[in-house]
Amino acid sequence: MDARSQRIYLEALGIPLYRRRGGASAMVEGSGGSAARADFIPEADAEEAPLPGERPDTLESLRDEVADCVSCPLHQTRTQTVFGVGDPEARIMFVGEAPGAEEDRRGEPFVGRAGQLLDAMLAAIGLDRKGGGVFIANVLKCRPPNNRDPKPEEVAQCEGYLRRQIEVIQPRVLVALGRVAAQQLLQTQQPLARLRGAEHRFHETPVLVTYHPAYLLRNPADKAKAWADLKVIRERGSGRQ
Ligand code: URA
Repeated sequence: MDARSQRIYLEALGIPLYRRRGGASAMVEGSGGSAARADFIPEADAEEAPLPGERPDTLESLRDEVADCVSCPLHQTRTQTVFGVGDPEARIMFVGEAPGAEEDRRGEPFVGRAGQLLDAMLAAIGLDRKGGGVFIANVLKCRPPNNRDPKPEEVAQCEGYLRRQIEVIQPRVLVALGRVAAQQLLQTQQPLARLRGAEHRFHETPVLVTYHPAYLLRNPADKAKAWADLKVIRERGSGRQ
């Protein structure tokens, strides 16, 4: 018997119809047997029950999803996920590479030495990670062991989380901190030197590129160029341009 005939037959007999929870296609089944299990819901309730991916993301729901993520082997070595920190309605969203040891321990991005420099860079343009207007996240939400570079397959697994964070926050401008974030957001292999100094796009959102604070710690001579970038970031984030 095909599914349509089966549905008509069961309805005529007054047997309730069940649908697999979250299933795209309707499943016709009587109330006994497997339909009674938790992964089936009465068809009558299915209209109200959101399918996976139907409920709009919030930062909190995304944070929970990330905390449970086991999509790549990094979940085996992390202490905890590092989702991001800041204002859910930030005008400027900074994107780094991946948590380091200190971030993995504390569950917050940029809290080690590079983070102290990032805070100083923010302060230089009147911003504060706790003061509103700013959100800070990373391409990867879990620490790569021994601070190695993210592997392409790890980035691929995590990419959706960053995209959805950006969709929820809707910043006026994204700031890629360093090569890894810039190349990932812009889907390019171009070196950082080529990407700085121009405005790019991530879908509709403007993207500016600057040095990673860890690079600036090793190459302080480039802080002058970073300052030039910061002034553009300030202008772009204030919406005066
Ligand atoms: N470097 C990053 O790219 N992100 C952090 O959170 C810390 C260091």
